[in-house]
Amino acid sequence: MNTVLVYIGLGSNLDDPKRQIKDALNSLRKLSLTNDGVEFSRVSSLYRSAPLGPQDQPDFINTVAELLVALDPLALLNRLQQLEQEQGRVEGRRWGERIIDLDIILYGDDIVESAMLTIPHIGIAKRAFVLLPLAEIVGGELDIPGVGTLTKLLEECDCGQVNKL
Ligand code: AMP
Repeated sequence: MNTVLVYIGLGSNLDDPKRQIKDALNSLRKLSLTNDGVEFSRVSSLYRSAPLGPQDQPDFINTVAELLVALDPLALLNRLQQLEQEQGRVEGRRWGERIIDLDIILYGDDIVESAMLTIPHIGIAKRAFVLLPLAEIVGGELDIPGVGTLTKLLEECDCGQVNKL
């Protein structure tokens, strides 16, 4: 299988979120194209963002990582969910607090709409905590399939609640 450039959004707001993000990045760095079909490429700075859902939860720490992937989208989702479980994620309320969240933001130029997956990630156009770190590593010219350029999305997005650390 050919490799695809994939962008993963990482988020955490429980149990020392910066350490959780660091641990998740270390898990991703241990994967290899040969053995796992995933190779770590690069990562943005850390950002702090106000929670989207229930407001009685701590701020999130977010970042975006670039991966080289030789798995199909569903196999990649399974792999990321395995990492979430290994890191101790437990199911909680919708849009609630979490130890670690790994979302597939972009999978090459593909558009995926299935019961299990929506790619580009459904919230991308409005989520500054994804747009800002993504723009930091790829630049604003990137065209999000079916959505528009990062620069255009950033102009229309409220970035006030997201701060680079
Ligand atoms: P979350 O609570 O954000 O971890 O969402 C978990 C669920 O979202 C998973 O069970 C996935 O099936 C679904 N999902 C849909 N699109 C995506 C995506 N692009 N990346 C990750 N999970 C997704």
